[in-house]
Amino acid sequence: MEARSCQRVRTRVAPSPTGDPHVGTVYQALFNYAFAKHHGGDFLLRIEDTDQTRSSRASETAIFEALRWAGLAWDEGPDVGGPCAPYRQSERTAIYREHCARLLESGAAYRCYCTPERLTALRLEQQQAKQTTRYDGYCRDLTEQERRRFEVAGTPYVVRLRVPDEGVCQFPDLLRGVVELAWDSIDDQVLLKSDGFPTYHLANVVDDHLMDISHVIRGEEWINSGPKHLLLYKAFDWTPPIFCHLPLLRNPDRSKLSKRHNPTSVTYYRRLGILPEAFTNYLGLMGWTMPDERELFSIHEMAQAFDLSRISLGGPIFDEAKLRWLNGKYLREKLDEAEVLRRLRLWCFSDEYLAAIVPLVKTRMDTLAEFVPLADYLFTDVVAPDRSLLVLGERDEEGMKEVLHLLLHALDTVRGWDRELAQAVVRGVAERQGIEFRAILRFLFPVLAGRKDALPLFETMEILGKDLVRRRLRNGLEVLGGPLGNKKLRKLLSTVTEDGVERQD
Ligand code: GLU
Repeated sequence: MEARSCQRVRTRVAPSPTGDPHVGTVYQALFNYAFAKHHGGDFLLRIEDTDQTRSSRASETAIFEALRWAGLAWDEGPDVGGPCAPYRQSERTAIYREHCARLLESGAAYRCYCTPERLTALRLEQQQAKQTTRYDGYCRDLTEQERRRFEVAGTPYVVRLRVPDEGVCQFPDLLRGVVELAWDSIDDQVLLKSDGFPTYHLANVVDDHLMDISHVIRGEEWINSGPKHLLLYKAFDWTPPIFCHLPLLRNPDRSKLSKRHNPTSVTYYRRLGILPEAFTNYLGLMGWTMPDERELFSIHEMAQAFDLSRISLGGPIFDEAKLRWLNGKYLREKLDEAEVLRRLRLWCFSDEYLAAIVPLVKTRMDTLAEFVPLADYLFTDVVAPDRSLLVLGERDEEGMKEVLHLLLHALDTVRGWDRELAQAVVRGVAERQGIEFRAILRFLFPVLAGRKDALPLFETMEILGKDLVRRRLRNGLEVLGGPLGNKKLRKLLSTVTEDGVERQD
């Protein structure tokens, strides 16, 4: 396979709309944008919503908003159209099915009729034998007669990619040189699910080709998918794009950036009062430095100077304290007073935000001057409750930490956010821990508002938003002396999830 050359530069960001807009999405979008614009090319936005159970339009809208807020604009995308429309994968399923049929015809893929029960038993067997869990190729070479029997019986099937059993796959990565992965470490990937929807791998490769993407610049977590993608390009007889896997953003302790440690939602940073230009500038410092090493630069300046080969692979640390510092510099040095006033209005002094608070405060104030003291905690990031307020009756601190951990866990599993959901979450945890509803409220007021008496709790939780609630619950853990140890936490959470594993971002 030849590498591409002399082609117009076209890059894309391809988020899956399955939750809050992630910092990592903006980071990848920024680097794709800077590269495309440096070369006078196009930057596309594609929505990868083939996982119908997890994708939502609300999340998609939030992604558009977060990217626009960060100052990014795309030349083609679901909301702006373009010559390769549609740009939403759920609207392209006929295209994937047609391509899948081509793979079946050439033998690059095959139908697999294995039942979920057989696959589960196989996995267990392999786990017990301490082997890598992978499909055993049972349906790879069915005879025509066997296949027909399944067809006649109407057995549901998936389509799998035929992956070589031996040898090594090599593919070039712009930042890493030649990446090598042994074929026997790679599973016969499912390409089309039994509901006729494609998996990420098929849809992603077909779209990158049909959308004429020249450079696939994406997160390091996709590097192991490289061989499968290369195999697909070969099977279709297409020239693959140039791959470039960006380093993963990390927490200050070097673990992968995850909302269990730090907020990862762009909405949270907006809510904190981070300026969009500071946010994007900070992401621009993740693995990249300007040739003159200056720290403050705009997207436009970054695009002008951009050079992929200057990216360093040491995992960049996304540190909120550093982001705040940079934001402070922008506020003090880059914005005049009129502009700061405008930003304050856009932030929490907007009619929309105040209108959400007024109904809660109105019934409690005699003078307007009481508004600020009553609602102050809705305008700050963390609050500082007194430790004595966080211990409920005879329950010890460990018991209250359990409550906080369970709330954090429940927050992760709930989709969407409003006062009803907030109430359901709190009620669920109170019942599980055998705490009276009133008692848990008494505990949560100081955790979330910093004091005993506050505005109605669930409305407060709705207004604060999930991220800020999460941040204050975590702060509550700190006030109580720090989170539970890993072992205790795992034990606690194993009682609430079937598999005992906390959901990932
Ligand atoms: N939908 C994938 C994601 O959410 C896209 C990965 C890629 O860029 O290929 O990250």
